[in-house]
Amino acid sequence: MTAFMDMDAEETVVLGGRQFGKSTWGGLNLAIKNASSPGYRTLYTAPTGKQVSVFSNDVYASLCTMSPAIKKICDFKNEWQMGARSFTTGSKCYFRSVFHSADSARGISAGWIQFDEFQDMIMDVVGVLKQSATNYPDRRFFYTGTPKTFSNQITTYFDHSCGYEWMVKCKSCNHYNYMDESILGKKGYICQKCGKPINIQTGVWVPRKPKQIGIFNGFRVPKFLNPNISFTDVIRERDNPFMTRAAFYNEVLGLPYAQGELALTVGDMKAACDGKRDMGRIGTKYPFPLVAGVDWGTGDQAAIGKAGARVRSFTVVTIGGWYKDKFRVVYMRKLIGEEADIYRQPAVVNHILRSFGVETVVCDWGFGASQNARLINEFDWSPDQLYEVQYGSMVNLVKWNREAQRYIVDRTEQHHKLIDDIKRRRITFPKWGDTGPFHEDFTCIFVEFDAIRGTMRFDHPSGKPDDTFQSLVYAKFALDINRGHTSKFSRGLVE
Ligand SMILES: [Zn+2]
Repeated sequence: MTAFMDMDAEETVVLGGRQFGKSTWGGLNLAIKNASSPGYRTLYTAPTGKQVSVFSNDVYASLCTMSPAIKKICDFKNEWQMGARSFTTGSKCYFRSVFHSADSARGISAGWIQFDEFQDMIMDVVGVLKQSATNYPDRRFFYTGTPKTFSNQITTYFDHSCGYEWMVKCKSCNHYNYMDESILGKKGYICQKCGKPINIQTGVWVPRKPKQIGIFNGFRVPKFLNPNISFTDVIRERDNPFMTRAAFYNEVLGLPYAQGELALTVGDMKAACDGKRDMGRIGTKYPFPLVAGVDWGTGDQAAIGKAGARVRSFTVVTIGGWYKDKFRVVYMRKLIGEEADIYRQPAVVNHILRSFGVETVVCDWGFGASQNARLINEFDWSPDQLYEVQYGSMVNLVKWNREAQRYIVDRTEQHHKLIDDIKRRRITFPKWGDTGPFHEDFTCIFVEFDAIRGTMRFDHPSGKPDDTFQSLVYAKFALDINRGHTSKFSRGLVE
């Protein structure tokens, strides 16, 4: 582990099996930075509260108090708790859980951010968190976790990185061995080429993409590189009938496993398009009430991070209505070019919504909050026409939060419902030729098993936005409100 601690880059991804010491490595990074840079703020994030408390108490606090030099500057008197640990030098580390939203970390400014159990994070949440480092020219992002499918973000990040692999040279035939299942012999580790024994502790880090070294570093660390894990342990796990092949690949070899499935195929999307129906135009009149969904994007402002990061997301407006027992999508628009200008977006969106005579519109909260406020204040959208939705994870699938004046909805449930509606053709789109540019926003979505909740989880690969899919989720939610299927609450009034 220590071999790559010194290698520095703005972004570093470390993926590997369970128990390979990534937590200690991450803890050391943050603690050393905090101790050596007065006034410096760092942030540790993981999906669940339990993961965060274990790291804060058992890893970070232990490491700090273990070193006499660091212990001397720990500010035990004023702030030394699970959520934040301060130093008398003014530096500080925050610890936050960010499962389905970045809300708990909103407002924090930190130069070094660690994303632990990165494979279970939602990419949009990661994008928001990275903005916490905007004011730090020397910012560092560390992504650590265990691979899952090939589509999962930790794998795509690793593919973007310099991709250091531990390669072990065979003393008999000089072949460099790649660390996968083929080196597991009957009695010990063997050379893939000649079958003679090899010593896996004697390898070297070999990059896949040397040009990325120092820009985006990446390391894959199989569990058996940990000297405390014996060959017998590895074989026992491989032959354990209760361990799936996927789990063995992910957690022991540190390799992705092809079990993820694309949620919607090109075939599904083609089947959901009406053969001859044209995409609506501004001003087209329809014999049924129309609703809309707006997914606000950063538009012309590129997100932080050169490699691996989502470059940018676009604002998408989707309009449709209930017609012949289906949700008929009549219009979709992605704001690009001049319209992507963040200041102009509300005026463009208002113009589209007004010209179709949209009755109810649902927009995303979070990044979109200020844009929604402009629609209300500058363009006269009333609180019972425009609703905000925030994703959460919860037992009640839809909840109206009176204090916050917005709906909180279960992300997985909303995604599941929409995918099912498309597959069963309860939603129809204009003809294939007119909707072509939008289909990738649907067919990029993949599904994985979410071990934390024991449910399915939907996400999209970094670099492939799902903005249109999201705007359709909101449009469908607007339909439910408009048809009285979801209780309608009036914002600004006590119900
Ligand atoms: Zn050999």
